[in-house]
Amino acid sequence: MVRVTADLHIHSPFSAATSEKMTLHDLVRFSRIKGLNLLGTGDALHPSWLSILKQNLEETVMKGLYKLKGEGEDVLFLTQTEVGTVHVYEGKVRRIHHVILMPSLEVAEQLTDRLSKLTDLKADGRPVLTITPAELVETVIETSSDNFIFPAHAWTPWWSIFGSIGGVNRMEECYEDMTKHIYALETGLSSDPAMNWRLSALDRYTLLSSSDSHSPWPWRLGRECNVFELEEPSYKELIDAIKAKDPSRILFTIETPPEYGKYHYSGHRKCGVGPIPPSEARKIGYRCPVCGKRLTKGVEDRVEEMADRPKGFKPENAIPYIKVLPLAELIATALGVKGEQALYSSRVWDVYLNVVNVCGNELKALIESSREDIEKASTTIVADLVVKARENALKITPGFDGVYGRLQLENERGKPKKQRNLTDFLT
Ligand SMILES: [Zn+2]
Ligand SMILES: [Zn+2]
Repeated sequence: MVRVTADLHIHSPFSAATSEKMTLHDLVRFSRIKGLNLLGTGDALHPSWLSILKQNLEETVMKGLYKLKGEGEDVLFLTQTEVGTVHVYEGKVRRIHHVILMPSLEVAEQLTDRLSKLTDLKADGRPVLTITPAELVETVIETSSDNFIFPAHAWTPWWSIFGSIGGVNRMEECYEDMTKHIYALETGLSSDPAMNWRLSALDRYTLLSSSDSHSPWPWRLGRECNVFELEEPSYKELIDAIKAKDPSRILFTIETPPEYGKYHYSGHRKCGVGPIPPSEARKIGYRCPVCGKRLTKGVEDRVEEMADRPKGFKPENAIPYIKVLPLAELIATALGVKGEQALYSSRVWDVYLNVVNVCGNELKALIESSREDIEKASTTIVADLVVKARENALKITPGFDGVYGRLQLENERGKPKKQRNLTDFLT
């Protein structure tokens, strides 16, 4: 059996707001540091990225899995893209993102031929089509019955199947008669499997987790991923495992705490209002107390609205998961390095590389290394935070309206928050 740690949804430099560092070489380099061994290619329908992929990747004996020429098979690629659809359902415009996995770069080229008649694929690595999701699935499956499509980050307010702004309430309302081809959904950063387990309608789907990363840095790439154990890894075996929701082949998913996600609670970033928990947001009718506009409703609220089961319910066939925060986040917090650029600072990076050198890679450090090893390579506080993350005991101020959640040290609790909160406006 071969352990495959897979991030199945990333982007290329041809998607809007993507780091220029998103090169294949950097992706391989940072995957090794992170502890990933399979990556989606991202943006496989963009003609320029597809031609870079075709020039630089070669298929391995593991059918449908590629490696970078001149590099080993320890980091593999699988043909992947993300596509947006815009359509009207019951009089309302719906905007939904879908991830598509494909058995080869040649199939990506064939799908490019078909979809280029509907939109300018050169415009963005993540193309947007004005067709229904059902029409998209039909085209994708007609191009190759081995193609695999599922909803991306299923709960984010904009651009997702269950999003409060552009989404719908049921899988069938999105994919209509093509729902039979859907086997999985991506939980996204702001929700975790336990939140999804509260909807009985989702029991038959495999919950996947990916980073949707726009940069190769290891605090983005692989921040969420899936751990498979495959007999003879290939595109087909991987897809079979997902379709069968086979717990012997999908061992677990790796998730960030949902509070870390950018849409976990409600708020209005422009007015500095948030994070607002569901009970309070309901009380004020999801209106911003400063400007009166609609709050961006949190994923937690949306799950609560749609759930038909209590918190803590676990379906019988559930795939387990573990929660981790990117190691760089833990180190930045432990060292007290603050601000937008904290994760890029050399102080954080030096400690990060020490830990990776001692433990083998980041995911090993986060999941299985001994406390002593981590402490030896870093500091007592870093080791404390890694252990706390494992025990699910991190204190995180939830994210809202596009703002990431923020990790807090225990002794920060009493301090006044810089971010204004709801009570500031109500009293
Ligand atoms: Zn997306
Ligand atoms: Zn406002």
